Amino acid sequence: MKTATKLVSVGRSHAHAAAPVNPPVIRASTFLFNKLEEFETAQRTPFDGAFYGRVGTPTTFAFEQAICALEGGHRSIATASGLAAITATLMAFAEAGAHMLVVDTVYDPVRRLCNRTLARMGVSVTYYDPAVGAGIADLIRDETTLIYMESPGTGTFEIQDIPSIVAAAKSRGVPTAIDATWATPLFLRPIEMGVDVSIHAATKYIVGHSDGMLGVLTTTAKMYDRLRAATQDLGGCAGVEECNLALRGLRTLQARLSQQGDTAFALAQWLESRDEVARVLYPALSGFPGHDLWKRHFDGASGVFTIELTDRDPEAARRFIDALALFSIGFSWGGYESLVLPVNTKSRTLPNWQNLGPMVRLQIGMEDPEDLRADLEQALAAI
Ligand SMILES: *Cc1c(COP(=O)(O)O)cnc(C)c1O
Repeated sequence: MKTATKLVSVGRSHAHAAAPVNPPVIRASTFLFNKLEEFETAQRTPFDGAFYGRVGTPTTFAFEQAICALEGGHRSIATASGLAAITATLMAFAEAGAHMLVVDTVYDPVRRLCNRTLARMGVSVTYYDPAVGAGIADLIRDETTLIYMESPGTGTFEIQDIPSIVAAAKSRGVPTAIDATWATPLFLRPIEMGVDVSIHAATKYIVGHSDGMLGVLTTTAKMYDRLRAATQDLGGCAGVEECNLALRGLRTLQARLSQQGDTAFALAQWLESRDEVARVLYPALSGFPGHDLWKRHFDGASGVFTIELTDRDPEAARRFIDALALFSIGFSWGGYESLVLPVNTKSRTLPNWQNLGPMVRLQIGMEDPEDLRADLEQALAAI
């Protein structure tokens, strides 16, 4: 099946007559059994049917199956948020004395998790340059238990050489995980590239309408028990309503991404031509340093990118952001509406990011491209 067909059919079944188009939303903490033997049978396979709400209801499993069909892994596990999926992954490989390699462009709450909770557990973390490629081999230690990637990097969009990193990791028997939220399951297939855990903040494009918090991870048969144990131990189960919103979001994911990506590309090119803009950080642009890697490994670009302003006065970015009318200031991205936020790279440990001008991240929504361009133009003038 091609992707568009998959998006319509995954996670729902019409095996019986008069089935509704969408799987019903099953809200439950408790499932009832009449005989103890039935209860015991359900208890043997809690993640396949209906046993107890925290392990999932049929709505949760429908969402997990839908993502797994798109990702091509062994199984997917839904979590309360994107960060909950990441936390479960890191905890699955955490132990006293362990070492992890985490990309320096990582989503900031993950750095806080590493520097606070994991550090307290006796896990040490080395933040590596997203351009490391095969050079990751030199950073792997005997006690390295995980390499954690995010591509493109948060805020600055560096593309990592996933196959080289995976090859180096495999030669030392080190598991790998990636946060692939920007690409969605449509534009990057980490499991097929040999990555052990593929993570999405479904909060973003998958739910797609800025009204739900949800995460999901997909993993291989080899790693599944370890990941399932970690998600269960942490207790951060996905909300059933959110799984339903995500299933709904999936049906239109390709249409939304296609429009948002097209508009983003047109606006990114136009912004590149403006004197007020020093650089546009967007992997789909041919002049972007990671463009060739992006082209080799991704099937498309979503609609989030960053601009670096020419005016180095930090107030310039404030004036630009405050002048925007169609782009609202707000965390998150992946919804249908345009958003703007300043980019802060201060927490990074490597020196690569010190000499940049003020940076502003744009999430391109589904508004008319000409209206968005006009809004950007008047805001650039306000600098
Ligand atoms: C938003 C985001 C997350 C966290 O997702 P939440 O659902 O907000 O917890 C993780 N990674 C990336 C790249 C994100 O943008």
